[in-house]
Amino acid sequence: MATMRAVQVSRPNGPFEIVERPIPEPGAGSIRIRVQACGICHSDSVTKEGHYPGIQYPRVPGHEVAGVVDAVGPGTVGWQTGQQVGVGWNGGYCGRCDPCRRGQFFACVTHQVTGITYDGGYAEYMIAPASAVALMPAELPAVDAAPLMCAGLTTFNARRNAGARPGDTVAVLGLGGLGHLGVQYAAKMGFHTVAIARGQDKGPLARRLGALAYIDSQAQDPASELLKLGGAKVILATATSGEAMSAVQGGLAVNGTLLIVGAASSMQVSPLLLLAGCRSVKGWYSGTSIDAQDTLAFSARTGVRPMNETFQLERASEAYDRMMSGKARFRVVLTVAP
Ligand SMILES: [Zn+2]
Ligand SMILES: [Zn+2]
Repeated sequence: MATMRAVQVSRPNGPFEIVERPIPEPGAGSIRIRVQACGICHSDSVTKEGHYPGIQYPRVPGHEVAGVVDAVGPGTVGWQTGQQVGVGWNGGYCGRCDPCRRGQFFACVTHQVTGITYDGGYAEYMIAPASAVALMPAELPAVDAAPLMCAGLTTFNARRNAGARPGDTVAVLGLGGLGHLGVQYAAKMGFHTVAIARGQDKGPLARRLGALAYIDSQAQDPASELLKLGGAKVILATATSGEAMSAVQGGLAVNGTLLIVGAASSMQVSPLLLLAGCRSVKGWYSGTSIDAQDTLAFSARTGVRPMNETFQLERASEAYDRMMSGKARFRVVLTVAP
């Protein structure tokens, strides 16, 4: 039987193990992907540390997958071998449950998550339900496409659904794995883009990514600086600090929205500020496969690219530690079979 290399976790907080496994066969409604690259996301800690209710081990993590359709399961419609594809956090949806019938596919009651409820992309091959698969433009290198399947998708989709119009002032809080993409998307979408981060040294990078203004939150009050620019219609909060999020809410314009994609555990909100200006605080789920497909196509056309540190699959453990250290600039990607 043909085998493949995979990196699995066998128990909560267990080590990454490099193993040989049989190459899996796609069942009805699924495809097999020959993985070329897989990004390492902070949410992979859910698999590593066992934070997902009912997660079963051993499990292969990875939900920033880029590769090629290698085999198509019986009765699977719409996909052919040889197509470039990606798979993200949303591991597919049933199409039959109440949320799906309302078009809220991200809320499907089956809660399929790539690399958590089934094996993900830290492997040479993986199986994905057709509903989880996004078509990838051929001109996008797999190593660039991979982080766009989660970090890119999240910031692109949040940004395009936030209600701001071209020309409006929008801010991106945080200039890390999510933020460095959020700034590029905001600029390419035609917003007056403002980046907010800690330290003067990040200013040149913010401008290179397309920000017209940079606010150093250590030296300046981000809320009053945003108000000097007329207030932000949207602030995309990619930082994971509740304190940093609380500090920017005063910079929202009337009808402005603080849109949260950074997983902070708590934050302070001023009800008076919200009601006095019809402002809101809202969260945004990353997106489903068609949103990912839009993200990839937009990125290919406009030149939005992640900044990556790459590691070979065998070095997954080291790569994961690098991501968790918070020091990576900016996404960490496993190269599998380029
Ligand atoms: Zn992710
Ligand atoms: Zn469903």
